[in-house]
Amino acid sequence: MPQTRKAIVIGAGIAGIAASIRLAVQGYQVVVYDKNDYAGGKIARFQNQGFQFDEGPSLFTQPGNVEELFKLAGEPIEDYFSYQPLPIACKYFYENGKVVNAFTNLDAFANELHQKLGEDPLKVYDYLNQSKKIYDKIGSVFLNYSLHTRQILKAPLLAAVAAAKPKLLFKTLNALNEEHFTKPETIQLFNRFATYNGSNPYKAPGMLSLIPHLEQNEGTYYPKGGMISIANALHQLALKKGVKFKLSTPVNQIIHEHGTVNGVVVNNTKHLAHVVISNMDVYFTYKKLLQNEGKSKSILKQERSSSAIIFYWGINRVFNELELHNIFFSNNYKAEFDHLFNSKTLYHDPTVYINITSKMEASHAPEGKENWFVMVNAPANVGQDWKAFRETCRASIINKLSRLLKVDIAALIETEQVMDPVIIEEKTMSYMGSLYGTSSNSKMAAFLRHPNYASAIKGLYFVGGSVHPGGGIPLCLLSAKLVGQMVKQNHN
Ligand code: FAD
Repeated sequence: MPQTRKAIVIGAGIAGIAASIRLAVQGYQVVVYDKNDYAGGKIARFQNQGFQFDEGPSLFTQPGNVEELFKLAGEPIEDYFSYQPLPIACKYFYENGKVVNAFTNLDAFANELHQKLGEDPLKVYDYLNQSKKIYDKIGSVFLNYSLHTRQILKAPLLAAVAAAKPKLLFKTLNALNEEHFTKPETIQLFNRFATYNGSNPYKAPGMLSLIPHLEQNEGTYYPKGGMISIANALHQLALKKGVKFKLSTPVNQIIHEHGTVNGVVVNNTKHLAHVVISNMDVYFTYKKLLQNEGKSKSILKQERSSSAIIFYWGINRVFNELELHNIFFSNNYKAEFDHLFNSKTLYHDPTVYINITSKMEASHAPEGKENWFVMVNAPANVGQDWKAFRETCRASIINKLSRLLKVDIAALIETEQVMDPVIIEEKTMSYMGSLYGTSSNSKMAAFLRHPNYASAIKGLYFVGGSVHPGGGIPLCLLSAKLVGQMVKQNHN
């Protein structure tokens, strides 16, 4: 074993990069391996005939998690990264012709829901106030502490238990929203937040009503340069702190002896380390790198999150009626989720999300044109015919958008590229192409997600969307923080 404390990170996803920074700051020599030829994992970027596309995530919340890493590393964030708050979190379009701007200013949002939908504004204030309370009292415990170590005893548990009203656990998010709001469009709008972590609002517990707090109270942001700049900035920060990146270099095995990790095998060569952190999906880590079939199967007891089909369209026109984030709702949300999670198929009238970064940065599309990232939720991959799904999905999207935007969208598509669950799995090793690891469709989901460490192998840790506290950039960054704390406590 080397003299200097050495850490190996498997995967340069956002959580792997964040973990590498945290360990480098603690004095570790850190090497990050990634099978891809770039750092960032699901956060990636490509160009198609003058149109720039963010490939994966498009919504940026809780920038404080990124700022914290720069503070910790003692580097000025402004040299690497900047972002701006958005006045409108999302623009919602309904089949009945109603259109709602979700202003991040609470008064403006409550007024908009009142004017456009006839919703009682007091109910909007009350809901978002409750959302904040649940987030502050319960969410913060769940997100900032390991649920599986003694660290949890330091959390403000009494306040969390007091705030955990039975309806948050025993009612579904949809039931809670139906009980609270009067208008079907408002219920649908607030049901949508279950998809933040790939879940089903008709199954997931009311606890997920804490999520709108992030978007509507704390706000949403646009990172200058697009989402890729989050990964690029943290990659640069890691390099600055001395982290070595070995790209296009898959790890083949994790080696351990007598219950302690020793390192990894790459290209038939052993690389020794005191600490190994896997940012690979925890299912594949057990199955492929530890050859532990039993443990990998036990992870599958939890339902996987949904996946997505994404069309990256270069659009030959500018739509002034669209914002950076836009959602065109399905007319039957319940049927859509039944298809996604029960029959594992696509509904003929899907909810369509469009992200257009050329609204923020004109250089992302040729003049007079727009870069459309068009996404629908899709079931996790269980061997469906994705070629056929892509074709029917494309037709459904074009039909819906042409109807609601009153123009033939097909005729405006100048360039096209497509992503589906199989491609997502191949690119980033996310089992079944799930975007967010496991879903939150059961009330115990938060507790059953895999911990950030291996109980049987000392020195082996896990970060990223497939483990505690879950998927999405903010939670992935928090998983790295938890692992940083564990390493400090267990090894220094
Ligand atoms: P990943 O990004 O999954 O990366 C894992 C890395 O490990 C990959 O680079 C892979 O190549 C590498 N790897 C795997 N196996 C090996 C091996 N054996 N050896 C070496 N390297 C290996 N989140 C948001 O916050 N906002 C959004 O709007 C949002 N939208 C999304 C839309 C899409 C289409 C997708 C796909 C995801 C979206 N997410 C969103 C989720 C978010 O992107 C993920 O939760 C997050 O990026 C996952 O990061 P991660 O650190 O878990 O690793």
